[in-house]
Amino acid sequence: MYYNENTIVFLNGNWIPAAQANTSLYNQTMHYGNGIFEGIRAYDTPNGVKIFKAKEHYQRMLDSAKLMHIKTYYTVEELIALSYELLEKNNITNAYIRPLFYLGPNMTLMPVEETNLFLCAWEWGKYLGDNLLRLGTSSYQRPNPKSCHVEAKTVGHYINSILASTEAKQNGFDEALMLDAAGFVAEGPGANFFYEKDGCLYTCPLGNILPGITRNTILDLAQQLNIRTEVKLFTIEDVKQADSAFFTGTAAEVIGIKSLDDYTFPMEWNSSFGKRLLTAYQEEVRR
Ligand code: PMP
Repeated sequence: MYYNENTIVFLNGNWIPAAQANTSLYNQTMHYGNGIFEGIRAYDTPNGVKIFKAKEHYQRMLDSAKLMHIKTYYTVEELIALSYELLEKNNITNAYIRPLFYLGPNMTLMPVEETNLFLCAWEWGKYLGDNLLRLGTSSYQRPNPKSCHVEAKTVGHYINSILASTEAKQNGFDEALMLDAAGFVAEGPGANFFYEKDGCLYTCPLGNILPGITRNTILDLAQQLNIRTEVKLFTIEDVKQADSAFFTGTAAEVIGIKSLDDYTFPMEWNSSFGKRLLTAYQEEVRR
C-alpha cells in the first residue's frame, strides 16, 4: 500500500528504492520512541504541484526535534526542496509526504549524535474517510504536558493515539475524542476538534494538543468567512449541547462528526460552519 517496486525514498542523502531502505535494529527510536515525524499533503493545483504549508510543517518538525534533544542537519528550505524532489522522482502530485527523523544505535536514555532522515510519499485518501464520524469519549487522556512535550510530534506520543483509536473501534465507534489531564476536551488521536454552538465556533487552546497546522488554517478561514470563533477550554458536557462538530488534520482534512457517545449533533452537516470551512479548505489547498 505504501510502496511498490518503482517507489523511490530518501534516506540520509541517498535516493534509493523503498525495498532497499533499511536500518539498524539497535536504533534508539525503535526501542524508546524518541523520533520526530510529520504528515504533509501535496495537491495538484492549476500552477502545478504544491505542498500545502510546507514551511509550517518543517518548522514544526525542527522545533519538535529541538525539544526532544534530537540533532538535525537540515534547514526548512532544504527539507522542502527534498520533498518536491521526492514527488518528482515518484511522479505523484496528490500525495501524503511522511518525513521521519530517527536516531542511531543507542541503548542508553541519553541524546544520540546520529540522526537519520527518511522521506517517503504515497497517494492517500482522506485518513478518516468522507462519512460523518461517530465518536466515543476516550478513557485515555492526552499525555500530561508536565510529563512530556505534548506539542512536539514525537514518535512515542502515538502509543496514546493508538490506544485511544483502538478502544474507540472496539467500543463500536469510528474514532475517539480525548480529554486532557484536567478533564477538559483536548483532541482526537490524530486530529484537532472544533464544535459549533449558537453561531460561534469553538476549539480548545494550545497546551494539551498538537498545535495543528490545519487548525490554524481553519481559524484563519473562519475569520475570512466572518465566522465568530472562540478559543477556550470546554468539557464533554458542553460538546453534548453543541449544534455541530468536526475534526481537522492534514491527513483527515476537515471531517464532520455525527455523534459523540449517545449524543447526536442536531444540525444538518450541510448547514454547518464545518461544511462551509471544508469547502473553503479544499479551495485553499489547491489555490
Ligand atoms: N493532533 C494530533 C495528535 C495529530 O496527530 C494531528 C495530525 N498531525 C493533528 C492534531 C492535526 O495536525 P495537523 O493539522 O498539523 O496535521
